[in-house]
Amino acid sequence: MGPLNIFLVVMGTLAGLFLMVSTIVCLIYYFCSGDKPIPRLSPEELRRIPVIKYEGGEPFTNCAICLEGFRRGASCRILPGCGHRFHAVCIGRWLNMSATCPVCRAVVVVGVAEGHELIALPSS
Ligand SMILES: [Zn+2]
Ligand SMILES: [Zn+2]
Repeated sequence: MGPLNIFLVVMGTLAGLFLMVSTIVCLIYYFCSGDKPIPRLSPEELRRIPVIKYEGGEPFTNCAICLEGFRRGASCRILPGCGHRFHAVCIGRWLNMSATCPVCRAVVVVGVAEGHELIALPSS
C-alpha cells in the first residue's frame, strides 16, 4: 500500500465520518425543531370545511382577510370551532399557510366528526 492509497483511505474515512455527523446533526435539528411545527391544513382537510353561499340577510361582516364585504352569492367558509366567516378563496389560501383563524387565532381543527359523516341523520 503506497502513501497515496493510505491518503485516500484516510480521506475516505474522514469524508464518511463527516457525512455521518452532518446527517446526525440534521436529524437532531429536524426532531428538535419538529416540536413546534406551524400547523397548517392539508388540501384534504381544507376540503372538509364546507363552502356555503352567502344569501344575504345574515349579519355577515367583512371578510377579515381581503376586508371586502360579502356579496350575495359569494362562496364563503365558516371555520369549525370559532364560527368566523371568510371568502372561501381567501381562507383557503390562508389555511394553506397557517391552520389558525386570522381573527381570533383559534386553531382550526377539521375532522373531529370524522366517522360520523357517513351516518345518515334520522329524518325528523
Ligand atoms: Zn375575502
Ligand atoms: Zn375565529
